[in-house]
Amino acid sequence: MTTSGSKQLVDVRRVLRRHAGSLARDLPWINCGDPWAVLVSEVMLQQTQVERVVDPWQNFLARFATPRALAAAPLDEVLRAWAGLGYHRRARSLWRCAQEITERHDGDVPSNLEELRALSGVGAYTAAAVASFAFDQRVAVLDTNVGRVLARCVANRRLTGTQATQLANDLLPRRDVASFNQALLDLGATFCRAKPRCATCPLANVCAWRRDGGDDPAPLSAGVSRPQPRFVGSRRQLRGQIVAALRQGPMTEASLRAVVDAGLSPDVAVTLEQLARDGLVCVTRRRWRLGDN
Ligand code: SF4
Repeated sequence: MTTSGSKQLVDVRRVLRRHAGSLARDLPWINCGDPWAVLVSEVMLQQTQVERVVDPWQNFLARFATPRALAAAPLDEVLRAWAGLGYHRRARSLWRCAQEITERHDGDVPSNLEELRALSGVGAYTAAAVASFAFDQRVAVLDTNVGRVLARCVANRRLTGTQATQLANDLLPRRDVASFNQALLDLGATFCRAKPRCATCPLANVCAWRRDGGDDPAPLSAGVSRPQPRFVGSRRQLRGQIVAALRQGPMTEASLRAVVDAGLSPDVAVTLEQLARDGLVCVTRRRWRLGDN
């Protein structure tokens, strides 16, 4: 296993630092200087592609500029502001998270990794990303993009969770950690994708997989997400259509069946129950609406 002082790690770190400036994607939350804005961006990015996050992120923050503002809003308003992002459970978790920040941290996003990790909807990746990008802490940020780079470029082997975490930490430079983490994410997103673009990749000359060959080690490596199941015709699509319809106002189950895709309408009842269990919709006198009471 590659160790922190190994030539491979040193080479990759050196080349990545050299290219950090040119790799940077122009994203509004980078270096924005507001921990709340960074936290909101990271929650939105958990399951939504970066291009689809930029506008909703700006609109959401225009409405909920602080954790206190979000904590004070009713859930149905939060779900309306989540338009375009899908996976609505994240909106509810972020709302709970804002309440926890308000109650436990006097309205300020905590910088401590464990306190971040204890917030609703904040997993290991999101906590590390906020600690690094908002508070410039020396902590590795390991997402699916970084997981591919580690498995291919650094190790050329499939990595367990412990190995990937160890390698990600060993790779960190002593200084400018946030920009290094961002460069690693940007390299994974731009070049080391599921279908890699090795011919133009800045790390090509130091990449272990490109040099030594073999099967692609990334697909089953820790931290690398599996391909998403088909969206069209899925329960996920139906959930999105129901929430979108209820953003206009309360509706009966029969009215909802009439507005969703015909092929999905038989599943409206069971999906409404599921959304209600998730605390996203509720029913009064047979009319469904957004919110949990
Ligand atoms: S050369 Fe190819 S495999 Fe290696 S880091 Fe670049 S894109 Fe990934």
